[in-house]
Amino acid sequence: MTDARIELLLDDITSLKVDAIVNAANTQLKGGGGVDGAIHKAAGPILYEECSKIIEEKGSCSVGEAVLTSAGNLPCKHIIHTVGPIWTGGTNNEEKLLARAYFNSLLLAKEKKIKTVAFPNISTGVYGFPKQRAAEIAVQEVKNFLDMNASIEKVIFVCFEEANYLIYKNILGM
Ligand code: ADP
Repeated sequence: MTDARIELLLDDITSLKVDAIVNAANTQLKGGGGVDGAIHKAAGPILYEECSKIIEEKGSCSVGEAVLTSAGNLPCKHIIHTVGPIWTGGTNNEEKLLARAYFNSLLLAKEKKIKTVAFPNISTGVYGFPKQRAAEIAVQEVKNFLDMNASIEKVIFVCFEEANYLIYKNILGM
């Protein structure tokens, strides 16, 4: 059964007024195309500065890891940047790493007392992860986390493409 705290939207994640949106970032937190580019563009240059500071301190952000910044000009309060795996055929631990990106994002949210979180479809754009399998992993990982943690009040899967929206609708039984 689907957790009542899970919601599904076909929308632009930068428009959401949640506590935190998750960015599908790269290991250098440099911005780029896709959702990452859209978030940086809408948040403004302060986000790039915060990301650069994190990279100065840490060197890089590993695949599966998650870090927090403020949200600049966005209507949300925080951005959780996580790095999804690049799909290279499925034999390089991609499934576990994708699950870890969702888990670590939620763990960070919990630690920071963030109650509402919106996820894009991590790794399913330029990184090439098969959409159906990525959605199954995302839903499973989020459900597992919510089962164990009462502090998160809402998780929204935000799809930007209709194909992904229909996949999630089916998996979530909505
Ligand atoms: P990755 O490099 O992790 O594959 P992409 O940004 O290329 O990241 O794609 C991840 C997902 O984000 C894709 O499903 C893409 O359709 C979606 N996406 C792109 N722009 C937005 C946006 N503004 N809001 C929500 N999702 C978006």
